[in-house]
Amino acid sequence: MICAKCGEPMDQTDKNSFSGRVIREYLCRKCGHTDWEDDGVALWQALHDSLEKEDAEAAARAAANPPPTQPQAQPPVQPPPRSLWRRLTSAFRKP
Ligand SMILES: [Zn+2]
Repeated sequence: MICAKCGEPMDQTDKNSFSGRVIREYLCRKCGHTDWEDDGVALWQALHDSLEKEDAEAAARAAANPPPTQPQAQPPVQPPPRSLWRRLTSAFRKP
């Protein structure tokens, strides 16, 4: 990093990765100017994000392809009940 005040190359004095981003701190040995730059997402944060993404993808896969379930035993098909009216009147019907 170049010093914004005098144009000299600055020394990196610190590197923080708080709040998931890497912040590099620089100090100009010549004029004492300090500065920092955002070095992007910290490695552990990127790892955390990718793990979360994998979890989400696994959940999506599980939802798309549910594990096979045992086929449910179908109850025996009952014949349709005969009409009560037909049953009552059949005795009086002549063939
Ligand atoms: Zn400087």
